Amino acid sequence: MTQILWLRNDLRLHDNEGFRLALAQAPECGPLSVVYILPEIWLQEDALGMTRLATAKAHFLRAALIDLHRQLEDQTINFHMYSGDPAKVFAQLFNELKDYNIHLITSQPQAPEERDTLNQIRNLTIPDSPSVISMTTYDAQTLFSSAQCDDLLTDFPSTFTAFRKCVEKSPRHWQVAKSIDTPVLALHEQLLNLYSPIAWPDQEHCPPLVLSGGERGGKQWLKHYLWEQRAISHYKRTRNDLIDRPMEHASSSHLSAYLAWGCLSARYVWHEILQYEAVYGSDEHSYWLKFELLWREYFHWSLRSSMINPKHDFGAALFSEGGLQRKAHGSQFNEERWQAWWHATTGVPMIDAGLRELQQTGFVSNRLRQNMASYFIHQLKLDWRLGARWFEMHLIDFDVASNYGNWAYIAGVGHDARPQRQFDLNKQLHQYDPELTHIRQWCPELNLVTLDDVLAHQSGIKHLETYPAPVVPVFDGEH
Ligand SMILES: Cc1cc2nc3c(=O)[nH]c(=O)nc-3n(C[C@H](O)[C@H](O)[C@H](O)COP(=O)(O)OP(=O)(O)OC[C@H]3O[C@@H](n4cnc5c(N)ncnc54)[C@H](O)[C@@H]3O)c2cc1C
Repeated sequence: MTQILWLRNDLRLHDNEGFRLALAQAPECGPLSVVYILPEIWLQEDALGMTRLATAKAHFLRAALIDLHRQLEDQTINFHMYSGDPAKVFAQLFNELKDYNIHLITSQPQAPEERDTLNQIRNLTIPDSPSVISMTTYDAQTLFSSAQCDDLLTDFPSTFTAFRKCVEKSPRHWQVAKSIDTPVLALHEQLLNLYSPIAWPDQEHCPPLVLSGGERGGKQWLKHYLWEQRAISHYKRTRNDLIDRPMEHASSSHLSAYLAWGCLSARYVWHEILQYEAVYGSDEHSYWLKFELLWREYFHWSLRSSMINPKHDFGAALFSEGGLQRKAHGSQFNEERWQAWWHATTGVPMIDAGLRELQQTGFVSNRLRQNMASYFIHQLKLDWRLGARWFEMHLIDFDVASNYGNWAYIAGVGHDARPQRQFDLNKQLHQYDPELTHIRQWCPELNLVTLDDVLAHQSGIKHLETYPAPVVPVFDGEH
């Protein structure tokens, strides 16, 4: 027998159930190969020219893979990195290993597309070989385990508040398990000969990452954020800032990309926050960081619960325009509006600044994401899924549950049946960028204009001469 550990969104050694299982099963299941596959579909353009891996995102992922490769190398284990259709790559690997029974270990699928791929692999057979293929899956992304969420999955709370209250009411049940230490991989390795290298998108024009990618970069960053900078001490007050200088004064935690690729486990982060609280005391700021991690949890389990629910078409409903609510939306594709979005020329400076920042760095603050999604859905009146796909292409922290969950939430089609969320961009600008600092950083052509000029321009009252007219003026009023 031989084992394959297929890493996906768990690019780490610490708190990785996959390595724990492989080590525990080694006596019966034999040598191990550690594999990563970049799905070729991520590199292919869709009908609108979007891939799933723009430059900054690719840069972060690559750094995470290199870091893990080096760490495995230190333990004299190869990290086999491939690109292709995962089912086809596995067909080739299984064929290469046809003299063995094969045990595949990988994390739970997060979304229907991954589940379908896993099912395809589960059903693979090796021609002319009696080998048996078996598979074990494990939780990798979340604070809570499938066992803890068992009851919740069949009757998922429709609002975040209900979910949070349920968690906070029974702290014993919802205790976050301690993270598993980095293992010593005293294992025999099964070498693989397959050659299918990753053709990375051109990264020449990508600015350097603000924070270094990978597990070791993530641990270092968390240490700096919590213990050296102690930036958690102002988290609740600053988390909505549009401008951030993470190394000197981090407004928010910048943990999202590390969590999305699994360079840091959510449980590890949680316990580090508890340790910080044990030393410095808990306050509204440390509580609020955990509160936001619970939002992430809410979206993850919301998607998982929809995947076992026939009413939600086993998860597919979240990716349909009407979402989990099956609401008729009736958006119409509009080429001019879509092009304005794509080229960051919507004529609404706050949105254009966010779009440029996202394209160039792969990151924008939560507050801007909310405003951008609201403008896309409620003003441009485009299909919210296109906006979600645009974010998927660019975000270094793209996470299927959080991204589609947040977009669906703002469109009013997620688990939460309350009406859609529409932001008043004039009010938001007043509140979050009154000095136009963020706008000027990303749209230097607006260096000499005033807040009143921008408000008049984006409301369609008086246009700035040097800036595109708003493709759709902003909404005045908020629900
Ligand atoms: C339209 C839209 C799309 C989004 N897409 C993603 C995505 O693909 N991946 C992603 O990780 N987050 C996404 N978010 C949530 C949020 O914007 C980011 O997690 C956050 O901005 C990342 O910065 P941070 O790590 O400094 O966050 P912090 O404010 O420091 O929050 C700490 C952690 O809590 C979690 N978190 C915070 N807010 C949310 C939220 N609203 N939903 C889910 N988790 C949250 C994240 O893991 C984050 O790292 C999206 C939000 C919106 C409005």
